[in-house]
Amino acid sequence: MAHFPMSMRKCLGCGEEMDYAAPLPGDDDPRGPRPGDLSLCMYCGLLMAFDEELEVRLMTPQEAARVPRKERVRMARALRDFQRAQRRAKRRALH
Ligand SMILES: [Zn+2]
Repeated sequence: MAHFPMSMRKCLGCGEEMDYAAPLPGDDDPRGPRPGDLSLCMYCGLLMAFDEELEVRLMTPQEAARVPRKERVRMARALRDFQRAQRRAKRRALH
């Protein structure tokens, strides 16, 4: 999967550090984030948006309401898969 390094920023929800962006699985457009794109924190699931400087900002309720249901489902799946992989990696590290 394509990864796009970004300068370090923190999730506005959980404070986890984010230093790269990646498209959702199934998005074959291998481009980096652009202003207005959505940003989903893979730790807490907070949905944010990239501003003109590609900093993350909170979405307005109106913007959040416009996210299509299909996209929400894809994001929820990506989040679940990421968190599963994280748990597996953690378990492996303990043994
Ligand atoms: Zn977060």
